[in-house]
Amino acid sequence: MSAGPRSGGDRDDPQLGPLGALLEDPAHSAVLTDFDGTLAPIVSDPDTAEPLPEAPAVLAALAQRFAVVAVVSGRPVSFLANRLAAAGPSVRLFGVYGMEWIADGAVQVAPEVETWRAAAVDVLADARREFADSGVGVEDKGASVTVHWRGAPEAAERVRAFARTWGPRSGLTVVHGRMAIEFRPPVGSDKGTVVEQLARGCVAACFVGDDIGDLAAFAALDRLEAEGTRVVRVAVTDEESPPELVERADLIASSPAHALTFLRRLATPGTDRG
Ligand SMILES: [Mg+2]
Repeated sequence: MSAGPRSGGDRDDPQLGPLGALLEDPAHSAVLTDFDGTLAPIVSDPDTAEPLPEAPAVLAALAQRFAVVAVVSGRPVSFLANRLAAAGPSVRLFGVYGMEWIADGAVQVAPEVETWRAAAVDVLADARREFADSGVGVEDKGASVTVHWRGAPEAAERVRAFARTWGPRSGLTVVHGRMAIEFRPPVGSDKGTVVEQLARGCVAACFVGDDIGDLAAFAALDRLEAEGTRVVRVAVTDEESPPELVERADLIASSPAHALTFLRRLATPGTDRG
């Protein structure tokens, strides 16, 4: 499934395109997705992001058919659990690029992350001072910090300059996203490590994402494909989309609502909804 973007062609359900591969053996296939920009429309204040109203029910329905259904995000996993509570416990949640997850209803944090918490606290405090009253958002993610400038586009260069100083000073890895920069513990965890862990052994797997951080998930699908797994990389696009993500995609969704249409069809194949 690396023939580039396409939007149709599957014999059973032309609407699904290459995602039709996921329906051949759902009990041994994985449906993996990002949250922001994928299940939830991008909003200027990230605190107010909400999934599309139908998304939790679609995820729950997917989890009844598929071996693995998971949301893999840069958000704290507690945020995901709050927003996706209605999806139920069969939908697995991974936050902060796999550094956090929910197990038995409780937040778990990778132990290697803890040693970076003090560095993140320093970055958080200085970012809050630096960007007070600027419209720039500073998000506390425990051992990670995200600085968003969607609410103050003119501050982009100031945030980049802040990252050039505070990346080396903190030892945290600086990762660029959509109108945001993140400081993350350099512990080798990313969306790709989560995808490999979840989808290894599956006959087919897809990942749906919209941002630079999702390239790691696509790369993990490349590795699984080399081992014989059928994989589908889905990019959710808009005018801000990273070109590399679009180039790497097997299938394009033009919005979160469009992405949800694909997921709904995977959950309830053969119906004519959406
Ligand atoms: Mg996203």
